[in-house]
Amino acid sequence: MKLYNQLSNDQQKALLEEAGEDRLTLSFYQYFKIEDPKVFRDELYKVWDKLGVLGRTYVANEGINSQISLPAPQLENFRTHLYSIDNALNDIRLNVAIEQDNMSFLKLKIKVRDKIVADGLEDESFDVTDIGVHLKAQDFNEMIEDENTVLIDMRNHYETEIGHFKGAITPDVDTFKQSLPIIEEDLKDHKEDKNLVMYCTGGIRCEKASAYYKHKGFKHVYQLEGGIIEYTNQVQAQGLENKFIGKNFVFDERRAERISDDVIAQCHQCGEPADTHVNCRNKACHLLFIQCDKCNAEMEGCCSNECKEIIHLPEEEQKKIRQGVEHGNHVFRKGRSGHIMKK
Ligand SMILES: [Zn+2]
Ligand SMILES: [Zn+2]
Repeated sequence: MKLYNQLSNDQQKALLEEAGEDRLTLSFYQYFKIEDPKVFRDELYKVWDKLGVLGRTYVANEGINSQISLPAPQLENFRTHLYSIDNALNDIRLNVAIEQDNMSFLKLKIKVRDKIVADGLEDESFDVTDIGVHLKAQDFNEMIEDENTVLIDMRNHYETEIGHFKGAITPDVDTFKQSLPIIEEDLKDHKEDKNLVMYCTGGIRCEKASAYYKHKGFKHVYQLEGGIIEYTNQVQAQGLENKFIGKNFVFDERRAERISDDVIAQCHQCGEPADTHVNCRNKACHLLFIQCDKCNAEMEGCCSNECKEIIHLPEEEQKKIRQGVEHGNHVFRKGRSGHIMKK
């Protein structure tokens, strides 16, 4: 039996369309001890492949971090299996996406990694189970109104650019790893007097960050339970005030979920209000950036004139250009922003 996806994205899309099934996009994570991540990964792959699960999952000695979609009718089977794998997974929260899209994921990828979130930290140096207090949406709303609260967005600049909580500090960082020491330095004088309240997309980054800041001497550390996704679900279910403005960036084909009607970002090419992320159509570039509809049409989905020229070359020549180009990073980085231009 093959334990890897063999289909191309287009083949997979066609299959999903043909199936015509409603799919659910969801995410979950858990820090717990996995003795043999490779064996764990293969077992998971076999079961999930049968259930029709697609998406991206990281497995490490420290736990599991999973963003997936599955046929809606398989939810109970999926849940029953997941909860039975290990006590630590029994009853864990599944973060169901705010905006559903059957094409959110096209492949099943389960990868063994050193960490389930790249944090750059040595685990041995502190107790990762000594985490901050979880806040539900209602308590979170109250807490962030307190003048003694500092609200921190634990995500990266390209995520906070299109949406964040009102009044949050949004560090100008490319990675989670970078944000940890920067925030610590900025708040070092407030370890005892301020409430440190943090949030991220689904909560996993705050699990690590809150333990880290407690270890660093912060006395009042809180985190939004289940992140922006669970917050929005609770706000909608309970009719609470929504304090999140704009879009929630997500790491799948949907790119983002709209949470409020506010458009808080600008097109990287013309500066007009826009909050749609696109990948540059030049596959050798693939830069993720914000582009308005007008620029998208004018630039044919490209980030620069250079890329626009390349997409009109014969495919064979484009392939040559792609050779040797690294495809690992699909995300707009500040260091590359000079590359985006129209004229
Ligand atoms: Zn524009
Ligand atoms: Zn480009």
